Amino acid sequence: MTKQGAPPEQDTKAFQAVDAETRGRMTPEDLTLLFRLERDFAFTFQQLRLFSRWSLDCASWGETGFRSQALAAIDTASLGPGNPRQKGEAVFTAAQRTYQDLAAKAKSYPAESPKEKLPAHKFVEKELKGRIFRLCPAASEKAVCCNLKVLNIVDNCAMACSYCVLQNHYDEAVIAVPANLKAKLAEISLDPGKLYRIGTGEYSDSLLWGNKNGILRDLCDFALANPNAILELKSKSANVSWILENEIPANVCCTWSLNPQIIVANEEHKTASLDRRLEAARLVADKGVKVGFHFHPMFYFEGWEEEYQTLIARVIATFRPEEVLWVSLGCITLLKGFAQDFRLKYRHSKLLQMETETTPDGKITYAFAVREKLYRNALLALEPWRDSVFRYMCMEHKPMWDAVMGFAYPNMAVFDDAFNASAFAKLARRL
Ligand code: SF4
Repeated sequence: MTKQGAPPEQDTKAFQAVDAETRGRMTPEDLTLLFRLERDFAFTFQQLRLFSRWSLDCASWGETGFRSQALAAIDTASLGPGNPRQKGEAVFTAAQRTYQDLAAKAKSYPAESPKEKLPAHKFVEKELKGRIFRLCPAASEKAVCCNLKVLNIVDNCAMACSYCVLQNHYDEAVIAVPANLKAKLAEISLDPGKLYRIGTGEYSDSLLWGNKNGILRDLCDFALANPNAILELKSKSANVSWILENEIPANVCCTWSLNPQIIVANEEHKTASLDRRLEAARLVADKGVKVGFHFHPMFYFEGWEEEYQTLIARVIATFRPEEVLWVSLGCITLLKGFAQDFRLKYRHSKLLQMETETTPDGKITYAFAVREKLYRNALLALEPWRDSVFRYMCMEHKPMWDAVMGFAYPNMAVFDDAFNASAFAKLARRL
């Protein structure tokens, strides 16, 4: 019932079930439909909430068929038998099916990237405190993990990849750059009897900031002091000038995350283009610095099969296997709870257009069958490097390893040993 003088919506379930931010993002047509579903079809709170999310998702995917299908279901239910609640169930079920079908299909990306409002960035200095050397934050006992160690140096990134866990609701990305890295690196004491792979690209991009505050210089000194560690600088930028202009220890490698340009344009908003990443990697390899590639996160989109084959064939044609320390494969993986924040942030992304499943460690990813197709396709393209470049899947689980690789490392230590044996043997061949 509406209160005297108050906007009529305020007393409705639809108004209360769907938060103001979501309502603010919905199109007027979808909002009208939402109120109608409560009024004429007795939708429950939960059904109204889900319907609002589906509307928002389909609008950002450009799938206008969702609303027309819902309206068609309404017409059918209106003519049929039953009370409003029963008719509402039929409409809800039809809308759910439509949403699931649209989510499961391969995304269709426009060649021109959509215009999103993206954050600017600014730098602040920070003092590193506590332990900066730790296990990869994405590692999990429930996955087949490689025991990558990471250095937590710079916080946050400015590249605005739609799927990145570093992003949150900001208008301005605040990039915290350490002022005391050298001292903190000096505190780390590695076991000289062990081999390590250490990354710096888990909390930010490793190359984007160049040698700001002496970061790259300090890292190279750390690598020189620890020849039993390979230091991985992982990037989606093309900022390799400092690497090209300075002496780089043999145990420092630069790696790039790669995706077809259509994914770069649509989901990796402020990164370097695919061409520029590959050009940068070529320059680095020409200098004699080892490189590596991460086909991660792979996307399921129209043309994925050919696009990933073409991309991998291009990498194989551009680099000699002895220049490449490793290649990884991985799929989109999202933290639970990410979806609603994401919905409210991006208006044009198809990121959430996916048939999902929850991994044993509670993350959201593509359904098994979709991931398996993506991996098989990539491995087929990587076949020329089968015996010459170490390849692995990141954040995957034993059933997927068994299905795609035909085996699974039994634990992190065995995976780590195999990885190190391959990578350090290749480094030794350079020296
Ligand atoms: S497999 Fe991936 S998630 Fe697991 S430790 Fe290695 S890099 Fe981290």
